[in-house]
Amino acid sequence: MEMHIQRPLLTSEIIHHINGNKLDNRIENLVLCQSHVEHVRLHYTGYRTDTEKRCRKCGETKSRTMFDAGKRKAGCDPNHVECKACRKAYYAERFRNGLTSRNKKHPGAQKRARLNPK
Ligand SMILES: [Zn+2]
Ligand SMILES: [Zn+2]
Repeated sequence: MEMHIQRPLLTSEIIHHINGNKLDNRIENLVLCQSHVEHVRLHYTGYRTDTEKRCRKCGETKSRTMFDAGKRKAGCDPNHVECKACRKAYYAERFRNGLTSRNKKHPGAQKRARLNPK
C-alpha cells in the first residue's frame, strides 16, 4: 500500500480489503481509511433496502420488521445492525454472564426472581 500512495501509512490509517481477503493486496482490492470509524463504516455497508436488510451477525437478509429500531441518529440506519433474534441471543448471553440485570422483561430475569425471592 505504501508503494501506491507514495508515502508511509499513518498509524491512524487502516487498509480495508474489499473482498475481505487480507492476503489479496491488489490495489483494486484496497481502500485506505483515514480512521477506524471510517473503516468500521465500510464493514457495515451490508445489503439494505427500505424494506429489508442483512443482519451483521447471522448474515441473513430479513425484513426490517425483524430488526428492532435503533437510535435515530442523522445519517445512520434507523434499525440495529443485528436482527431481533441475534440481539435476543446476545442479551440472553449477557444476562447469563451477569452483565445486565436492569432488563426486567427478560424471561431469564423473571425466572431467577421466582427462584430467589428476596
Ligand atoms: Zn476492513
Ligand atoms: Zn441475525
